[in-house]
Amino acid sequence: MSAKLAASLCPYCAVGCGMYLVVDKGKAVGIEYMTDHPASEGALCPKGNAVLEVLNSEERLTSPLKRSGDGFVAISWDEALHLVAEGLARNIKKRGAGSLGFLASSRCNNEENYLFEKLARLLGSPHVDNCARLCHSPTVVGLGAVLGTGAMTNNLLDLENSRCIFAIGTNFTEAHPVVSRWVQKARDKGATIIVADPRITSTSWTADQHLRINPGSDIDLLRGMMKVIVDEGLLDSDFIAMRTEGFDALQKNLTGLTLDEAAERTGIPAGEIAKAARFYARSSASALLYSMGITQHVCGTDNVKACATLALLCGQVGRPGAGVWPMRGQNNVQGNCDMGGMAEFYPGYRRASDPKSVEFFRTAWNAPSLPLGPGLTSTEMTEAALQGKMKAMYIIGEDPVTCDANINRTRAALDSLDFLVVQEIFLTATAKMADVVLPAAAWAEKDGSYTSMERRVQWIDQAVPPAGEAKEGLWIINEVGRRLGLELGGSSAAEVLLEINRNVPQYGGMTKERISAVGGLRWPCPDEKHPGTDILHRERFSLPSGRASMASVENRPAAELVSPDYPILLSTGRIVEHYNSGSMTRRSPSLSDVNHELYVEINPEDAQKLKIRHGDMVKVKTVRGETEARARITEKVKPGMVFMPFHWQGTNIITSGALDPVAKIPEYKMAACRVEAVG
Ligand code: SF4
Repeated sequence: MSAKLAASLCPYCAVGCGMYLVVDKGKAVGIEYMTDHPASEGALCPKGNAVLEVLNSEERLTSPLKRSGDGFVAISWDEALHLVAEGLARNIKKRGAGSLGFLASSRCNNEENYLFEKLARLLGSPHVDNCARLCHSPTVVGLGAVLGTGAMTNNLLDLENSRCIFAIGTNFTEAHPVVSRWVQKARDKGATIIVADPRITSTSWTADQHLRINPGSDIDLLRGMMKVIVDEGLLDSDFIAMRTEGFDALQKNLTGLTLDEAAERTGIPAGEIAKAARFYARSSASALLYSMGITQHVCGTDNVKACATLALLCGQVGRPGAGVWPMRGQNNVQGNCDMGGMAEFYPGYRRASDPKSVEFFRTAWNAPSLPLGPGLTSTEMTEAALQGKMKAMYIIGEDPVTCDANINRTRAALDSLDFLVVQEIFLTATAKMADVVLPAAAWAEKDGSYTSMERRVQWIDQAVPPAGEAKEGLWIINEVGRRLGLELGGSSAAEVLLEINRNVPQYGGMTKERISAVGGLRWPCPDEKHPGTDILHRERFSLPSGRASMASVENRPAAELVSPDYPILLSTGRIVEHYNSGSMTRRSPSLSDVNHELYVEINPEDAQKLKIRHGDMVKVKTVRGETEARARITEKVKPGMVFMPFHWQGTNIITSGALDPVAKIPEYKMAACRVEAVG
């Protein structure tokens, strides 16, 4: 029989690039480019091109495992499921369902995440969260507070319509490479590109203006720009009057600020701030792009609010080419949040703290009772475990022992649990700590839908069978539920999608048939006749008043400031070859061969003072611990700052666990460190 093509999606970032898998005799043997995919147009970055190395990896988990001493032994599915049910039930009986924590997976599809959070809440635990906590929880709550919806306002294709693209805190050419296509198209049509980033990056190289901002001064820059816009009358008064609230307070907030103060705090000359403000405000359509350089701060939520407020001030929202583009991380992190895999929300962003949400789902799920939230966030679950309040966790496709900040605390927290079950495709650092490991099917081995950063919901059918004895996530979650006396009500992804259509208003018209077409549909799509939504907020904002709520914010200093003992600022981020914890990309030879070890970028001035040469191994130390990395001496970082990619476990041994008080995201971008030569 000849090979077949199966439509699929890249399992890495939230751009949601399409591809075809070439399937021969039940095995994916190649990929072909999906040139008719609307967002990627056949393009794939190095990670997307290497997906088969992960799918077909010899290191895939192929049978259930249970702990035996320091290692594991393979067991049957029946025994594994029995152990999981018994471990969870034991803790419910002894300590109550509130002692259980659940981490949903932004690598898994919508249907799995919907059923997983349903399992958690039907068991009585409100503690469900996902890795959005570590990347874009400030987007969900910050954009939600200002615009009413915590998601990308426009879409990737629409970047082509922008005449000014202002990217702050995002190195998208490395983190979301295919987005560059759309930025380049805008540029080809004459758009001005402004990049605010402390580092010189491949994104800043493409910019017409690079604002080399001091780390942690984003609000100062944004307020400085707003001040110029107000003082020079560049604001959109009609838009402000008709569509927003809070302008008077904002004006008052800006009154005392001088451009010189903003310049001093940001390290950007006043003239450059003014120039950027004028470009952004005067362009007929301006896009504001941001990512974790904005969100991963103790003021991450306020940073997001300031970004959205700048856009509102200039009327740069709700039109083609004009809006706010949060560049989300994992392939289905948007969908996971949509499905209620967050401590604050039941599916469809119904507030978990609202008794009406609980009542809605109690009726929908025919449940005797459901927990009122909010539950504990993933970062709070760590603390609860350390305090002995959380005693069992069920983690799907997340690797907190690599991804959390200050991971020695996470390790201690997981160590303290009575029971840990991890459902994974590889034996990750977190899976290695589990009592039971459940081998899961990868994305190409199961049916289901994924929601990209542009709210694009796309269905893919199973292309190949799961590796070894690995099982589809839906089957596993259903079986665990069954053994705990729950019928979760969805044996296939198609069945679960029908339930999602009923209970998640944004997905009401997203039938399997409609989202199976190449490119799917963008939410909100409330009914089967609805064409989906390209641009949010065209007529009204999704807040009760219909108006956006401008935010008046002030910068807050980092939780950890440099000191004589720790005189250098450490920042972290992504590089193009790797993804998040690296649990997949580090197992991909073509990616690992390019960058195979942890490194630290050091400015030549600092390196000279520290007597460190390019290629030396160095120790990077913070108050939390130390890690070793290979020194790269480069002008990419300013003096007094170092940068480390976070795809190796060493990085998060030393990052700061200080949290944004609203979104509870750690301040990965700001830690005080010192660097020493090894030996
Ligand atoms: Fe995959 Fe993102 Fe690269 Fe596209 S840009 S191929 S979705 S990692």
